[in-house]
Amino acid sequence: MKKIYGIVGYPVKHSLSPAMHNAAFKALGIDAEYKLFEVKPEELKSFLKDLGKNSIQGLNVTIPHKENVFEFVSLDSDNSYLKQIGAINTIVNKNGKWFGYNTDIPGFAKHLKENFDPANKKVAIVGAGGAARAVSFALVKSAAKEISIFDIDKSKSENISKMIKSLEADFPIYVAKSIEDLKINNKDLLINATPLGLKPADNLPVEEKMLRRDLFVYDLIYNPAETQLLKLARKVGAKTSNGLGMLLYQGMQSFEIWTGSFAPKEVMQKALLEALQ
Ligand code: NAP
Repeated sequence: MKKIYGIVGYPVKHSLSPAMHNAAFKALGIDAEYKLFEVKPEELKSFLKDLGKNSIQGLNVTIPHKENVFEFVSLDSDNSYLKQIGAINTIVNKNGKWFGYNTDIPGFAKHLKENFDPANKKVAIVGAGGAARAVSFALVKSAAKEISIFDIDKSKSENISKMIKSLEADFPIYVAKSIEDLKINNKDLLINATPLGLKPADNLPVEEKMLRRDLFVYDLIYNPAETQLLKLARKVGAKTSNGLGMLLYQGMQSFEIWTGSFAPKEVMQKALLEALQ
């Protein structure tokens, strides 16, 4: 029987994940399909209860459900830190029992390292939502020297700081009171973890004068491929990356968790690029 995988979120219409995973299933001759499951928050519980009935073997979980699947899944002992991270983006059915993972963390770490090694580097993050939680933990695990974080809602940055301290008590993480207080001028890496840049008319997440040639600028946004922030960073001579590689690597790891097969990188990357156009 055909196995069903997919992404559950609200909304999920614009997700690129079906293109990436269905191309991988086809390339490997796996009889499976990846579908979109648009599920409202109030419907999540009953949707999760019925997964077995619908032949669903594994799912990606996205906004606004990443925090809300914990009660439904078990965690392997080496994944118990996910309780502190507070976000699960992949679930899999193993012999009738559901397990949770977060592949955004290794997905981001792997893609960043291919472009910029954060080991012993000072990092500034703008935005302290769900993505920033995964990104900041990935940076700690990648041996970054320190993290400073700014969000317009200071309590969100404080929550990330508490989360990191609960996992790595001695890691230096600073909550900035303003974008100026983020002191980007003495950082090596700037990460945009806000949605600013998704729309052409969006304000910049930082001021143009804060960018400089020897700063690496990573924008989690991948559509558009070059946000206003990345355009300006390129203009001042800074090296940059968008978040498409993170999307690819988190997807590859989810695929491997579900199928036990090596994810076909080139096939998935090509499908993503085609879906973007
Ligand atoms: P989120 O939960 O909405 O978090 C974004 C945070 O940024 C919110 O706390 C928001 O505050 C804050 N913010 C907005 N404008 C700001 C500003 N000018 N200065 C400082 N903080 C500001 O979103 P998310 O899920 O973390 O996602 C963030 C971005 O990452 C999105 O663009 C998403 O598409 C991208 N993303 C990419 C990948 C990938 O694989 N590449 C994966 C996940 C997410 P308010 O809520 O008060 O507005």
